[in-house]
Amino acid sequence: MQKKELGKTGVMIPEIGLGTWQYKDGERPLRLGISLGANLIDTAEIYGTEEIVGKSIEGIREQVFLATKVSAQHLHHEDVIRAAEASLRRLKIKTIDLYQVHWPNPRIPISETMKAMEELVSRGMIKYIGVSNFSVSETKEAQEALSSERIVSNQVQYNLDDREIENELIPYCKSEKISVIAYSPLSRGDVLVKRSKKGVLIDEIGKKYQKSRSQVVLNWITSRDPVVAIPKADKLDHVRENCAASDWRLSHDDIRRIDEET
Ligand code: NAP
Repeated sequence: MQKKELGKTGVMIPEIGLGTWQYKDGERPLRLGISLGANLIDTAEIYGTEEIVGKSIEGIREQVFLATKVSAQHLHHEDVIRAAEASLRRLKIKTIDLYQVHWPNPRIPISETMKAMEELVSRGMIKYIGVSNFSVSETKEAQEALSSERIVSNQVQYNLDDREIENELIPYCKSEKISVIAYSPLSRGDVLVKRSKKGVLIDEIGKKYQKSRSQVVLNWITSRDPVVAIPKADKLDHVRENCAASDWRLSHDDIRRIDEET
């Protein structure tokens, strides 16, 4: 599994991680993914999957980079602290590796939220601060509200059907050394069943490499710096397939074809 640096922390995270929104299975798929190198697990207080994630990493906590999120309605100072305490309890861990603000909330000043996030770092409850669904200007504002920490990542939607972040967010994050964590990288499963023009192109390219549609798409997503992807998979075969989307690379020509023809 190829790795990329998280922000400029020096910490390396896998280019394919494990999403857990609507994850319904037990420990096996997550443990399989971890054993295949996909040791970045993404959850959120709102997903209802923190308990199963906690159970899945029992005994192997140190092998895993654990990311969770505080919901947009919990962004007042005391609510952030309480939400983190509750996530730590559900995950049965001492420190969250990456704590992300799930969505911006225009009704709560980001400076208040970021102060609380810094307090969590100084109390050892979280290691790194991230955001999610933040625009470039919202990311800048969040960074400016921090006094000693940095925003290390922004988790945003990125897939063949939604490439908006290529315009401003990816270039900005690249220049600021902020990791982009691509969510719904498989278009929630749609890219894999659609008989679309895009699907035909991906299949044609996949044939050359003997890779599946999901593998080509994940490889195309992670070919961009500083992007890593977090597909969600309940099925063991899907986990295996997704993890094998790393350790090889589409040619520049094929990346350009996907860029231009989808
Ligand atoms: P996704 O990863 O694009 O798609 C998941 C769907 O694709 C599932 O139905 C899964 O099926 C299927 N799938 C996975 N691998 C496959 C494969 N190799 N072949 C065929 N089908 C495959 O969608 P997502 O869950 O929306 O996004 C991934 C993660 O991003 C989430 O789990 C969550 O952690 C995060 N996320 C974050 C936000 C946010 O606001 N920050 C929003 C959405 C998602 P099975 O499960 O049956 O294997």
